Amino acid sequence: MTIMTGLGVSGGTAVGVVALVALPAPLPDEAASTDRAGDLARVSVALEDVAARFDATAASLTGDAAEMISAAAAIARDPGLLDAVEEHLQSEGPAHALHAAVDDYAKQFEELGGYFAERVTDLLDVGARAEALLLGRPLPGVPELTEPSVVIAHDLAPADTAVMDPAMVVGIVTEDGGRTSHTAILASQRGIPAIVQAKGALEFSSGLRVGIDGDSGELVVEPDEAWLAAKDEKRRARERISERSGPGRTSDGHPVMLLANVGNVADAELAGAADVEGVGLFRTEFLHLSAATAPSVADQSDEYVRVLRPFGDRPVTVRTLDAGADKPLAFADLGPEPNPALGRRGLRLMKEREDLLDDQLAALAMAAAETGALVKVMAPMVATKQEAAWFTDRAHAAGLPAAGVMIEVPGAALRAHQVLEITDFASLGTNDLAQYTMAADRMVGELSDLLDPWQPAVLDVVAAACEGGRATGKPVGVCGESAGDALMALVLTGLGVTSLSMSMQRVPMVRWALSRHTTEECVRLARIARDADSAVAAQEAVRSAASPELTDLL
Ligand code: PEP
Ligand code: MG
Repeated sequence: MTIMTGLGVSGGTAVGVVALVALPAPLPDEAASTDRAGDLARVSVALEDVAARFDATAASLTGDAAEMISAAAAIARDPGLLDAVEEHLQSEGPAHALHAAVDDYAKQFEELGGYFAERVTDLLDVGARAEALLLGRPLPGVPELTEPSVVIAHDLAPADTAVMDPAMVVGIVTEDGGRTSHTAILASQRGIPAIVQAKGALEFSSGLRVGIDGDSGELVVEPDEAWLAAKDEKRRARERISERSGPGRTSDGHPVMLLANVGNVADAELAGAADVEGVGLFRTEFLHLSAATAPSVADQSDEYVRVLRPFGDRPVTVRTLDAGADKPLAFADLGPEPNPALGRRGLRLMKEREDLLDDQLAALAMAAAETGALVKVMAPMVATKQEAAWFTDRAHAAGLPAAGVMIEVPGAALRAHQVLEITDFASLGTNDLAQYTMAADRMVGELSDLLDPWQPAVLDVVAAACEGGRATGKPVGVCGESAGDALMALVLTGLGVTSLSMSMQRVPMVRWALSRHTTEECVRLARIARDADSAVAAQEAVRSAASPELTDLL
């Protein structure tokens, strides 16, 4: 039995045969174009054909899947892409010109980073499909499946993942991709176990029997009886856990609210129907990543109403636009900066574009009035007490009585006591807090060991923020990814956080972890983590000290 490990991004276990998604065949030799207008028209038809096929697929889907496929159709119709093809036709034939234009565009997307860098897979997929149509070759993608299969690919385009039949595709493995790639998002939305970053997985031959564990990231060739029995037991235990319900409580009854992170209406509808106590982070900028112009107050309000309604009287914490750095918005762009992550992003950008902030607050107040929902609003990237006061006053003046700040900057965490004196609550963005505490750009994968929220220095900074919460009696939650790590959730509870907001799939395990530990045990686990010398040692020490009932399942 051979075991290889990648990054588990969609939980669950499965066994199936390998179905390889081959890389596209190389392009044939081509003479330079002698009929540029004619060749450009042929490329244009091929791209429109790709877009039309995506439209048809999107029409048969809903939610994120439909949105992602529509976004890929928009890429195929991007006039800039055709302009680039026209330029390359001066020296190349149509297929090579298309290929070169897509390459140019991909480089530009990569340079822009963040959201754009993650759209490179869509762009390459559009290019590969248009090339195939142009050359009369079969379309690339997942082969026809006749038995339950584990699909292994370099990376998958949304068009591939969105149409997969979960009865046939029992698992997904990619050599590339990340936690926020489409493969990860769609696989977990569709309940298909998935692993990314499984380097070397494409070496496996088609038809081989493999097992996949999307929690631990294991890919096993010819799994033996012991592996199968262990995974089966784990699956049953997880099913039992997900049947538990109710608010977050330690075993001695200390409340820690369990909230969902959402990015759009589809997320809100799913989370609203689930057993969560509300929303701890609505990333409103996700609604506008591909918008060229600012949305109107009326349009924003309509969308917010649709996000708020599914939660009834449960609180929904809305973050005002967090634009800049890894999440650039075309309509809120102050021009290039040498260090975007340290520049005018988040609230800093809103201070320059007060019009955008005021429109958003007005839209939220309208949506709150229309729905009667319990709306809380918070600002991203707050560094000082004065910034916190500026935002809080503005939100109150707009008719939003619950206004707070995200603590993502160590300076704000160290002065949390003062910050919380003049605002209503704080929520720790541990993704950025780790980035700024360790001075490690979160877009640089090679620095992931520094970006680890288990870094004892990051935990010290979180502890300082919680101290400010205790001193002022104001709530301090966590809405970064670390809130969804069941072991870390115990540590955060021990440090004093009052709510944990995460991707809703993670809520059952965190609920269960809390229910197996007393507050005093959580405080002890937090001490153990902060006493460790490294992130790895902190996590290991907490794992050894936590209840085996929990750690056996992780
Ligand atoms: C964070 O920084 O932890 C956070 C929740 O915000 P985002 O990941 O959107 O920057
Ligand atoms: Mg952040």
